[in-house]
Amino acid sequence: AVGASLAAVLLLAILTSGSLLLWQARRSEAEAAQKTSFVANVSHEFKTPLTTIRLYSELLEQGRVADAEKQGEYLRTIGRETQRLARLVNNALDFSRLEQGKKQFQRERCDLGAELGRLMDVHAPRVAESGMTLRGSLPEKPVMVTTDRDAVEQIVLNLVDNACKYASDGRELSVALVGRADGGAEVRVSDRGPGVPVSERERIFEKFHRVDQTLTAEKGGTGLGLSIARQLARGLGGELRCEARPGGGAVFVLTLP
Ligand code: ADP
Repeated sequence: AVGASLAAVLLLAILTSGSLLLWQARRSEAEAAQKTSFVANVSHEFKTPLTTIRLYSELLEQGRVADAEKQGEYLRTIGRETQRLARLVNNALDFSRLEQGKKQFQRERCDLGAELGRLMDVHAPRVAESGMTLRGSLPEKPVMVTTDRDAVEQIVLNLVDNACKYASDGRELSVALVGRADGGAEVRVSDRGPGVPVSERERIFEKFHRVDQTLTAEKGGTGLGLSIARQLARGLGGELRCEARPGGGAVFVLTLP
């Protein structure tokens, strides 16, 4: 099963690199330097989880992990890193589709509260590993919206991934949902990290823009997550913005019609 999921992820990675190369070919020379570092960053982002998966699956295959608890831990890590690769591939695919104006949304009526609840159950253990507690504030009553569930998930996961990277000192990460009187909904992802300086609150949504190159270089990333998330939000007829959190931290507000 590990081999099959690895092969599937690799195939997706190759397909994605193919479409990224196509996208690259159409860009002007002015972006050459930016592109070079982008390709290096994307490759690096893929390499880290792939290395972990390869190492752990080899150890397990060679029977070098005797302890059952350790075996379970390695398998969980492989699963988590495979999910991370899938998110990277989804981001890269969304990016090239959005760039080409070919992104299509599959809208359906759904309960956003239930969707977010599921998403938080799946991702809480991963958030806990970065030292934070994921808290949900979801209304009891269903919040029905007509939207593309995969796109909403991709947006929220990009925000959660960022909080894990930039705000993990802050201990707490909360995802709150409120239904609006006009039938729309608002999702707020709030952390207690360093926050985003007011001069950067719009610029972080530009592609490739990162607040602190030296700091973010250590943490990996492509500078694309928020640009993709905002384009997806707008594609759904909504908006994504960043605010300061009273008492410190950042709040990302996603509004959906
Ligand atoms: P990446 O994480 O790959 O750099 P993003 O587009 O996701 O790209 O984010 C752009 C920049 O916004 C990040 O490099 C970081 O400087 C800043 N940022 C994003 N989320 C947060 C956050 N929760 N707290 C503080 N800064 C953030």
